[in-house]
Amino acid sequence: MTAKRRIAVLGSTGSIGTQTLDVVRRHPDLFEIELISANNSADLLIEQAREFQVNNVVICNEAHYRKVADALADEPVKVFAGVDSLCALASAEDVDIVVAAMVGFSGLKPTLAAVQAGKIIALANKETLVAAGPLVMRLARENGAPIIPVDSEHSAIFQCLLGACDNPIEKIHLTASGGPFRTWSRERIASATCADALKHPNWNMGAKITIDSATMMNKGFEVIEACHLFDVPAEKIEVVVHPESIVHSMVEFADGAVMAQLGHPDMREPIALALAFPQRLPVGNRKLDFAQLGSLSFSKPDLERFPCLSLAYDAIRRGGNVPCGLNAANEEAVAAFLNGKIGFYDIPEILSSVLDGLVFVPEPGEEDIFNTHEIATIRAREIISTK
Ligand code: MG
Repeated sequence: MTAKRRIAVLGSTGSIGTQTLDVVRRHPDLFEIELISANNSADLLIEQAREFQVNNVVICNEAHYRKVADALADEPVKVFAGVDSLCALASAEDVDIVVAAMVGFSGLKPTLAAVQAGKIIALANKETLVAAGPLVMRLARENGAPIIPVDSEHSAIFQCLLGACDNPIEKIHLTASGGPFRTWSRERIASATCADALKHPNWNMGAKITIDSATMMNKGFEVIEACHLFDVPAEKIEVVVHPESIVHSMVEFADGAVMAQLGHPDMREPIALALAFPQRLPVGNRKLDFAQLGSLSFSKPDLERFPCLSLAYDAIRRGGNVPCGLNAANEEAVAAFLNGKIGFYDIPEILSSVLDGLVFVPEPGEEDIFNTHEIATIRAREIISTK
């Protein structure tokens, strides 16, 4: 019997984190959880540490350290606090795969540490590649760290390329559900509330990514990620609205042949593939019944109603530190929208203003990325405070 794969789940209490643990729960013969981490969800983290008998636990927000450490005092588990501990433990010897499932820019530092340690990276944290794509991909190459995408669209593209035999990509058709406002008029979207935006039709996800889906910034970020992951220019990536979320994305080749990957929306499928690659595992998901599906529909995205998608295309075309600034401003704008401080269309307006004032850095290193993030965050907060 081959050794079990030892997994570190960074962000184990979030949507991707809990689904990762569900996959592991179904296949205890293949995987063991070495490390889990959370920002604030101490109770769930404690419960997970007990269930999976993990060796290390990191609570990133140090304010919760005592609570977690006391609760787990009778377990054979080491409890740490802070992001630096997470970086050290994610790159330690006894970890084979790092599932990067934290939300936002805060996922970058630990992911970079794991990449530099040559770990297999199951990448679910979008902001890592959006903010620092060229840097992350270069370090991954230099350190022999395979990056296996977990996002359903990128996992689909990854799977479509498995039989490509080095044929170049002619075009990527990146599918988008269109989010909760797909059929809404611009006027109606303008007055949308946070509760409206949080009702995603197909995917059950965390709050930040659900708002990003409503603005379609999530799709814009996925375009940026796809450019880096598959080394294609933005011109070769076309977003297509596909409300059923059955086709997870497609790759077209020179002869016009299009490869697609299909399935009911269930993140356990791409997660399991990333964990067990190249093996495919049963994960308890619903299977497709084509006769019952009947038909699938596709249409062009409306950039008038969803300007964030254009902002993302502009950012990746301009390159350098622009996508990093876009991501930072977006994190602030989405948080402000979630707190009811700004309206829906204030989000793209804030992003444009922040990017207009950004000092361009053509080839940002790690320090430039962190600086850009900080400057864009401060600028976004200033603009939000005037709203
Ligand atoms: Mg996605």
